[in-house]
Amino acid sequence: MEIDQLNSRIRSCSKCRLSETRTNAVCGEGDRDARIMLVAQSPGENEDEEGIMFIGPSGDVLDDLFDNSGMERDKIYMTNLLKCMLPDYRKPKQNEIETCSTYLDEEIEIVDPDILVPLGYYSTRYLFKKYDLSFDATFSDMIGELVLADDKKIYPLAHPASLLYDDSFEEEMKTHYEKLTDLLKPCRWYDICPMKRFYEEGKIERRWVELYCKGDWQSCVRYQKEEKGEYHPDSMLPNGEIKEELESIGDKR
Ligand code: SF4
Repeated sequence: MEIDQLNSRIRSCSKCRLSETRTNAVCGEGDRDARIMLVAQSPGENEDEEGIMFIGPSGDVLDDLFDNSGMERDKIYMTNLLKCMLPDYRKPKQNEIETCSTYLDEEIEIVDPDILVPLGYYSTRYLFKKYDLSFDATFSDMIGELVLADDKKIYPLAHPASLLYDDSFEEEMKTHYEKLTDLLKPCRWYDICPMKRFYEEGKIERRWVELYCKGDWQSCVRYQKEEKGEYHPDSMLPNGEIKEELESIGDKR
């Protein structure tokens, strides 16, 4: 299989200086038909020793976050931006990212996930650049914000290991990881929602449907009102804005 051939190139790679200090180059793992791909920055010490992704304390935190959200490891594909450990946990250098990210690009092409979930600053910056998205907010403001990129969605999250150093944002992180399961299924109101009809008729942009109805539908104002049985006009967009042109269209039907 294509991915096996790619992994064998990764395991024997010596394209950059990190090959001199690693024990194992760590390949991606998981469902090769996954709709979600997690992209961490680089292997840690345990991963480097065993050649396996997300083991040791950070793997335990990830498993807890998944258990809490109902997500299963084998339903997603997990990989790294850099396949080899960084000595002394230093920051990655730009030339290392440029050299190694060709493997990630190949993985994205082969697995072809719908949703890319970069974990941490460097993976997020890389994916935003790859898809020509502006990267002008601070990373902490981007965490948990779903973004549309060509035929993919990008959902940046904090790396699970960050909870090992500071657990004050554990609840926030749990909420963000819980949304991973939401992203796998559309809003339960989608089939009867006027937004579906407006989109199919070309009256609203694709981003409304992709980012809300088939994305983070829990944050949709229409969804929230629907769940509470509160009135909301057809002309109300998922973010709560009223688009008056839609009012007249809805009224005619
Ligand atoms: S607009 Fe909101 S309520 Fe309607 S289908 Fe989309 S997410 Fe659900």
